[in-house]
Parts: sequence; C-alpha cells; structure tokens
Amino acid sequence: MKIFCIGRNYLAHIEELANEKPDQPLIFMKPSTALLREEKPFFIPDFSNEIHFECEWVLRICQHGKAISPKFALDYVDKMTLGIDFTARDIQTQAKEKSHPWELAKAFDYSAAIGQWQVFDPETDHHEFTLHKNGQLAQQGDTRHMMFSLPEIIAFISRYFTLQKGDLIFTGTPSGVGPIQSGDLLEGHLNGHPVLKCPIK
Ligand code: ZN
Repeated sequence: MKIFCIGRNYLAHIEELANEKPDQPLIFMKPSTALLREEKPFFIPDFSNEIHFECEWVLRICQHGKAISPKFALDYVDKMTLGIDFTARDIQTQAKEKSHPWELAKAFDYSAAIGQWQVFDPETDHHEFTLHKNGQLAQQGDTRHMMFSLPEIIAFISRYFTLQKGDLIFTGTPSGVGPIQSGDLLEGHLNGHPVLKCPIK
C-alpha cells in the first residue's frame, strides 16, 4: 500500500506558508508504516517541537491502473474520508532551506491519520469538510477549491507510479494549519458527518 500526498493544492494554504504556486501537482509519499487508523491517538514524537495538523480529503484506490486518463480516473476510487497529514514543520522548514527531501518531516510513523470510510460517489461534484481543534473551528475546505482536481491528480500520479488497490491519496490541505500539543483533540467532518477523531497524546 502506498500513500500519495499532494502539497500546495489550495491557494490560501500556499499563501499562509508563503510558498510558490506549482504548475503541476506537487507529489510526495508516505510509507505504509505512516498509517494511523481511525480513532487511534497520535503520540507527539520526540524529534520535533512543532508538529502541525493538515486536514485533507482522502481517497482510496480500488483497482490497479497505470497511465489513467482523467476521463476514467474516478472509476479507480471507491471510498473517501478525511485524514491528517501530520507534519514536523520545524524539520520541513530546515529541509526546504537546504533543498533537502521532506521524508523526515512528512513520512514518519503514524503521520497519516485517516477517519472512517464513506462511499465515494463520482457524481457528487464537490465535498465540504471542516477540522475542529478542541471544539474550535480550525480548517474549512471545499474540494472545488483544489488547484488540481481529483481526475487530474490521478492521471498525473499514474503516469509515474502504478496505482494499486488500497493505495491512498491525500489531496492537500486548505488554510488554517497549526500546531498541536498533548491533550488536544482533532475532529473532522466531511459533508457534515463526523468521520475523524484523533486525540493527541
Ligand atoms: Zn498536506
């Protein structure tokens, strides 16, 4: 199982981190050991003093595919949920300054939390989601605001990597990312339904 993530897919988030706007999807990956299953607590690792939450719309791939056309891309998805792309922002900032890869900041154990799976309906043209931290609204997203749509993302990834059943795609975070500390509770709603709950330890 592979976990693909898209960086810088919402304009407001690019602006909050003062990043450049990409002209093609910015892809990075997490190993399967990064997966944190639903409702499991996230333990803050000792190597970072600045872990940020990034709430993202997450899709599950349901069949093998290579060089998929955007027209058929949604046939490759069966489930959706919300996830947290936990990011060691301090380590990522150092990596960016040195033009080093992001794995230590993004791909560590349990850095990819996911919620309960919902049926993915390819006819629904957009999905709204929110993330609350300790009951306070922190992030609000609408998949219509993604710079690269899901069909574009799947077509792009599958030119380089064969997609396999069970692979996950984190589609990027809207603005409002921020730090977590022990005792926090993150809760995500997708189209109004509570799908993700992640206590921070
Ligand atoms: Zn992210």
